Amino acid sequence: MDKKPISVYVHIPFCKKKCLYCDFPSAPGTPEEIAYYFRILMKEIRSFEALDSLHTITTVFFGGGTPSLVSPLYIEQVLNLLRTQYHFDKDIEITLEANPGTLTKDNLTAYRRMGIGRLSLGLQSVHEDELKMLGRIHSYQDFLNSYEMAREAGFSNINIDLMSGLPRQTMDKWKKTLETVCALDPEHISAYSLIIEEGTPFAETWGTRQGRIYLPGEELDRQMYRYTKEYLASRGYERYEISNYAKKGRECRHNMTYWTCGEYIGFGQSAASYVDERRFQNPAGKEEYRNYARSAYASYKATKPLSLKAREEEYMFLGLRTARGVSREEFKKRFGESFPGTYEKKLLEYYQQGFMEKNGDRIRLTDKGIDVSNIIMADFLQD
Ligand code: SF4
Repeated sequence: MDKKPISVYVHIPFCKKKCLYCDFPSAPGTPEEIAYYFRILMKEIRSFEALDSLHTITTVFFGGGTPSLVSPLYIEQVLNLLRTQYHFDKDIEITLEANPGTLTKDNLTAYRRMGIGRLSLGLQSVHEDELKMLGRIHSYQDFLNSYEMAREAGFSNINIDLMSGLPRQTMDKWKKTLETVCALDPEHISAYSLIIEEGTPFAETWGTRQGRIYLPGEELDRQMYRYTKEYLASRGYERYEISNYAKKGRECRHNMTYWTCGEYIGFGQSAASYVDERRFQNPAGKEEYRNYARSAYASYKATKPLSLKAREEEYMFLGLRTARGVSREEFKKRFGESFPGTYEKKLLEYYQQGFMEKNGDRIRLTDKGIDVSNIIMADFLQD
């Protein structure tokens, strides 16, 4: 019997210092807390041993937090356990998220040695004033040193994270960030627009009525998005998802698993999973996760599979994020039926309004549709 492909996400919830805009589950940790976290994490992974005979791991993603903050020995321990417990695809993609200011030559060499082939670097901006405003721990020069060290260590697949829509950001500053980063020739660029999350220091400063005056307005935000797409295309990066651009063949396979409703298992605090038509999420709280980890597999088994309707909705919702869009044929193969009548009705309206278009067997958002993508995608969740 063919084994099913599955992706693995491992959450490392530690950061040197909290960035001012961040609401991810991450915080500074003492050496003891880090050691303890990995003990629990290993327990959780072991509890999923029973999945081994059914799956082949095609991608592993160490995300956070800042996985490059902890000793590479911990990362290696996790990879060794995964390797012992599961079958790794021979072409596996293993990514590690890293922040400038936490990388050393030794760490990078160790990552390569243990089979990590893809590095995702959080830069956000090339301007010192913007980095400072975001509360990042590094300067642009720190990033450059990390990037060069990573290339020297043999990383030939690097992503750089960028952020637009920052307070007081002008189009010229955003252009400069894009141009500077492209000159480095990374294989992949993620360019997200800032979201001011409640409960963050950013929300207190920039989320108020007075603070919002300094944020780029909707029109400038759109202009930045369109410029990003055009400029990156001119530099050989194709937009393959709303905020992700890659050189040919360098799309992040791990993230594509999410957007195409592939199976993935998330280990660690707050990690989410989609296995066997069941969606579940680990507790975000430290204590709660600790208690949960021991019986994680039993909890997964007790989770109810999603209904057919819910799975179809998710397939549309997530698939429309991708530049390829969704395929009628794949839909039918996967769910045993064609698009329901309600989808056809919505699609017709969106074609007429110019928000969606057909491309052979596929349906996708147009540039106009991307401007209101949240509304359109959510529409498929509201039958
Ligand atoms: S490095 Fe990333 S996860 Fe850590 S605080 Fe900053 S934005 Fe959040």
